[in-house]
Amino acid sequence: MSRILLFLFLAIAGITGAWAQTTAITDVTVINPRTRSVLPHRTVIVERDRIVEIRPNSRRPLAPRTNRISGTGKFLIPGLWDAHVHLTKAGALSLPLFVANGVTGVRDMGSDFKEVAVWRSQIEAGKLVGPRIKTSGQMLESRANVERMKREGTIEPVDRLRIGVANPSDGRAAVARLSREGVDHIKMRTTPDLETFLAVGDEAKRQGLPFAAHALAAPEGLLAAKLSSVEHFFAFPPLGGPLEERRALFQKIARSGMFMSDTRVNLDALLSLPYSEVKRRVDDTAGKLDPRRKYVCGYLVADWREQAEELKDPDTVAAYGSFRKQLPEIERNLREMHEAGIKFLASTDTGVLLMYPGFSLHDELRKLVRDLNFTPMEVLRIATSNVAAFYGEEAHYGTMEVGEAADLVLLDSDPLADIQNTKTIRGVMARGRWFNRAALDTLLRGVEQVSGSGCHALPASSN
Ligand SMILES: [Zn+2]
Repeated sequence: MSRILLFLFLAIAGITGAWAQTTAITDVTVINPRTRSVLPHRTVIVERDRIVEIRPNSRRPLAPRTNRISGTGKFLIPGLWDAHVHLTKAGALSLPLFVANGVTGVRDMGSDFKEVAVWRSQIEAGKLVGPRIKTSGQMLESRANVERMKREGTIEPVDRLRIGVANPSDGRAAVARLSREGVDHIKMRTTPDLETFLAVGDEAKRQGLPFAAHALAAPEGLLAAKLSSVEHFFAFPPLGGPLEERRALFQKIARSGMFMSDTRVNLDALLSLPYSEVKRRVDDTAGKLDPRRKYVCGYLVADWREQAEELKDPDTVAAYGSFRKQLPEIERNLREMHEAGIKFLASTDTGVLLMYPGFSLHDELRKLVRDLNFTPMEVLRIATSNVAAFYGEEAHYGTMEVGEAADLVLLDSDPLADIQNTKTIRGVMARGRWFNRAALDTLLRGVEQVSGSGCHALPASSN
């Protein structure tokens, strides 16, 4: 067992009072983004890992030995989901960071399936603190791209994270193999050609798996590939032309059920900060510039260093320069997509430069409100029940309803008044297990200690 996993097990052993048979959060304002409802003065009762009752706060006594948590003056929302992370890159140490930030679910978008499956089963068994995990396993990539990455000799263990495909039959075989492994969805990042992209989409559909990809074709091609989600809004080509045409297209996309996975929080490091500032932040081990820097280390930071150097590449500079010019048009498209009824997901692409596991999702939520004018209620929905809807599993998690998974975040301040209040975390319930503020701080301190004591030497494989 790696040192980090061992540490994480020990850290959990130090957290007390975590799992009760019955827990009641009393007198709390319940916010259910799926139904857009706000119910003040409710008592939410959880048995094991399920919500079993939501009732008006009354004097009716609670069952004996119920673990009581006062919600007076506080707000209860479903656990948040980060819909685009790279867990193998972020490492095991990221798992408690998600929970400490109220992120009780992640959609992993390209990892070593065996490694993630081990973490997932340990989390489910209560041996490891971490989020609910949905994973694609390895991501599909054009074979030429995989070969180029290996030639360039980056520190990434390329073959563990990517499957190269050169033609439609490769693509189908890769999807069938991932399906046998037990992945939750397919992720494709690059494609050798349109035919392979379409074949992958068709095979994913045959295997009953949602298909997530970068915008690897024009909108009609994305529809033909039966794409379930487009990753990174900025990958979507800006569409000009008459408003009526755009509107008709976006309505068609909405009817197809395709989601837009927004990772605009990436833009800070990629577009807003000069290289020298990015480098200063990556090197700031003590977290003087950004306290979140103290919680990351090892392979993840080594990968960031490489990514930071890429920012100096003239081609990259040119690409981001032209993207920056298109941004207003792309953002207008996104608002139009939202108006047309396309569903969004909130994502950070954790693994990418200066994205802090768990922490950065809150910045993404703020940006969805500030840049795209989404309401806080819409943004909460995007970060909770929309992910369940992506998998067709709304009956199981992502909402504040009886029978749903007890993945909950208790907030001191109203997130509907200001979306930044999602950071005012008083406690988190993950699979029915309650972490009060002190327990969350214990998790954070533990991660900080490991991070500060030489985890820099760990390769991705033992993280
Ligand atoms: Zn990604």
